[in-house]
Amino acid sequence: MNMETFEQHYTAMRQTIEKHMPNADMALIDQAVEYANVKHQFQKRKDGSPYIIHPLAVAEIVAEMGLDMDAILGALLHDCIEDTDASHEDIEKLFGTTVAELVEGVTKLTRANFSTSEQAQMENLRKMFMAMSKDIRVVLIKIADRLHNMRTMQYQTPEKQTKKCRETMDVYAPLAHRLGMQKIKWELEDTALRYLAPAEYNEITSYLLAHKDQDESFMRTIQEKITQRLTAMGIQNTTYGRIKHVYSIYRKMQSQGKTMGELYDIYAFRVIVNSIPDCYNVLGHVHDLFNLVPGRFKDYISTPKPNMYQSLHTTVIGSQGIPFEVQIRTWQMHETAEYGVAAHWKYKQGSGGGTEKDFEWVRRLLESQQDSDAEEFVQSLKIDMFDDEVFVYTPKGRIVSLPAGSTPIDFAYAIHSGVGNAMIGAKINNRIANIDTKLKNGDIVEILTSKSAKGPSRDWLNICMSNQARTKIKQWFKKEKREENIVHGRASFESEMKRSSLPLSALSDPELEPQLLRKLSFDNWDDMYAAIGYGGLTATKAVGRIRDDIAKAIKAQTAEKIPQNPLRMKPDSELVLRNRHGVNGVIVEDIDSCMIKFAKCCTPVPGDPIVGFITKGFGVSIHRADCPNAQNREDPRQAARWVRVRWSVEEDQPFDTTLELDCITRDGLLLDVATVMSTARVRVKELNGKDLPGGRSTFTVRFEVKNVAELESVRKKLLNIRDVIGSRRGQN
Ligand code: MN
Repeated sequence: MNMETFEQHYTAMRQTIEKHMPNADMALIDQAVEYANVKHQFQKRKDGSPYIIHPLAVAEIVAEMGLDMDAILGALLHDCIEDTDASHEDIEKLFGTTVAELVEGVTKLTRANFSTSEQAQMENLRKMFMAMSKDIRVVLIKIADRLHNMRTMQYQTPEKQTKKCRETMDVYAPLAHRLGMQKIKWELEDTALRYLAPAEYNEITSYLLAHKDQDESFMRTIQEKITQRLTAMGIQNTTYGRIKHVYSIYRKMQSQGKTMGELYDIYAFRVIVNSIPDCYNVLGHVHDLFNLVPGRFKDYISTPKPNMYQSLHTTVIGSQGIPFEVQIRTWQMHETAEYGVAAHWKYKQGSGGGTEKDFEWVRRLLESQQDSDAEEFVQSLKIDMFDDEVFVYTPKGRIVSLPAGSTPIDFAYAIHSGVGNAMIGAKINNRIANIDTKLKNGDIVEILTSKSAKGPSRDWLNICMSNQARTKIKQWFKKEKREENIVHGRASFESEMKRSSLPLSALSDPELEPQLLRKLSFDNWDDMYAAIGYGGLTATKAVGRIRDDIAKAIKAQTAEKIPQNPLRMKPDSELVLRNRHGVNGVIVEDIDSCMIKFAKCCTPVPGDPIVGFITKGFGVSIHRADCPNAQNREDPRQAARWVRVRWSVEEDQPFDTTLELDCITRDGLLLDVATVMSTARVRVKELNGKDLPGGRSTFTVRFEVKNVAELESVRKKLLNIRDVIGSRRGQN
């Protein structure tokens, strides 16, 4: 192991920590260094040096930012979970929960992929980055990590260089800017440019090198002029000139279409003073010393930039006719400008405050900023705000932002309603996943579709999180499934009526019906059922709108005592609501919960092969498969309304059925039939006889059986009665 290099980095880190944190627990730092060193002992950097140099360098940058002890420990251990056998629990045991969580957070960012091919998506990329970091210190450690990796980029392959530098330009530098960390932002940009546009980078840097003496003498002249004046006026100041950073010169060249030699505006001077009044005094002296360039003065002290940057900016022209910018600020503003959000910890530590978990700094910033730019900053900075958003990728790398808790259903509808409607499944990170899986930041989501997909299921309305998905699913039901909507809508409407103890007969009361429909703003009941069915109106709301009208009508009728037209509660025995377990006897395939009635023409009972027909407004009507009324199933005009159904019977559940008996008329026959029925121990609900011409008669018997076997045994007994000569199921 190259001890010299280790010593160099260790010493540099230690000195930086001691400078910013005189009371730091160095024994604890050493423990973390030792732990990381042991864990990374078999790893080497690309240049062959021991791996521990990297965490040491990152910790130094984090200390230089002024972050706290936990962040420095986190920086030292930041690659331990990702690269070694260290676990969250190990780190937690040795260094505490906060440090373990910081390392965990950095690891998550390391594993995520922050790239997208679309320029318009950059903002989402940065949001995703922030969303994945629950603690702002995670972002700062990761930026420090990237900074050191950029500094040692020369050892990487060209492919890796391009990829990392792109990512630095797209994500890290803008984030550093948003967080107000100028210095780091500049270094990230300049280093990235060196690999992304080497020719231009070299043009600029060699020009600057060639003109170094010239530039320095120019800057010295200006600096002396300013310092002299200020000192003479008794204003304590630190004044220096610098060349703007390479990337900003590069951007100026690009946007103004100029070569390096044609570009003047490359110098910037900084005057740092002790107080805000001094700032404005300095401004007056600068404008007195040099010629002002109109329209370039900016007061970021009274109106700070969204990232909390404060300074006075002005551009002036010196005696040589070269324009230059002067930035005037206090020391505190300077710290903030250099270190941004991190400067917060510096102040905190100075004033002896505890650990800052709720980003008071950010909050203060938010309160002081009102313009839209600030809002944008808030959107991109305030980590808590991303709790309600999740960012995922399409397989092609497009980022889709969804409400937190979203599922592949939401994703599919965010892509296109056609994708949602044709969805048959989903893959998350290349693995088949349930469509109700909650998506996580950075997931790659692929929707599996099929042309023969049946469209969304009603359950999806409860699973999806986004209004967009919900609206699109409802639209689909509204358009594609009117008949089914009517069935569903009617079922929930009628059950709501029953729950409110309102008689269904009110709906068809000739006097009341038009009034109720008007109240509901529908032309007919089917339209309203359809609206409830697709979710455009809730049953509760619908019933609520007409409740009073019905109640009033009932009251009026009771008072007037008109028995001819009673709005009575009629237990509608044919209409039964099937619940999820199918206790009412029949499961209709593909329709979740709907009304069922057993067709009177054939009165099916369990054991009979059956089919279902979606009626207009009366639910699904169940016929025996051999019922004459069920023989038009192939008719293309009707085919869509025939649905597959099957029995789902609980024990001892009775079913109404009807038999018609052909008889030769004689006295006492009715009594014989009644006697057979009672000895067979079946419940008779209706027994009618009717004389036919030619000495014949028919008896219609409606009674309850459990299944077709019981029905057949009853039928056999009835056929044994003298003068009963035939029988038919159902009634005609
Ligand atoms: Mn690292």
